[in-house]
Amino acid sequence: MCIFCKIVKGELPANKVLENQEFLAFHDISPKAPIHILIIPKEHIENFQSCPGEVMGRMTPFIQEVARIFELDKTGYRLITNNGKNGGQEIMHLHFHMLGGAKLTWPYQAIEQEAKRNI
Ligand code: AMP
Ligand code: ZN
Repeated sequence: MCIFCKIVKGELPANKVLENQEFLAFHDISPKAPIHILIIPKEHIENFQSCPGEVMGRMTPFIQEVARIFELDKTGYRLITNNGKNGGQEIMHLHFHMLGGAKLTWPYQAIEQEAKRNI
């Protein structure tokens, strides 16, 4: 079982922010911004590429509610999902990173050599 499924089942601890029957939001264990929340479906879906559109339709208002909890709806935030190897996905359970609480830099750079190899 993947570690996010273990969090859903309560077998691993998490600093939870919001949950309903279908989705869960919790603090990232290694924050990359002052506010760094992970938002997941409770069902094991590998990544965005394999996520049914209807799930995203229900997940969208949940994500927006998480933003309101931290007032990021007013100040702004970045929503990222790393998809697959080149996307840098390490945990193979769909998750969105919500990053905020400071002005974030943009753009992210692809690693040059890797980028060339994979064009
Ligand atoms: P990704 O590279 O997109 O798969 O992101 C995985 C994220 O999960 C990273 O930002 C990790 O810091 C975070 N993470 C790993 N284990 C845990 C955990 N037990 N609780 C909360 N966040 C975690
Ligand atoms: Zn899982």
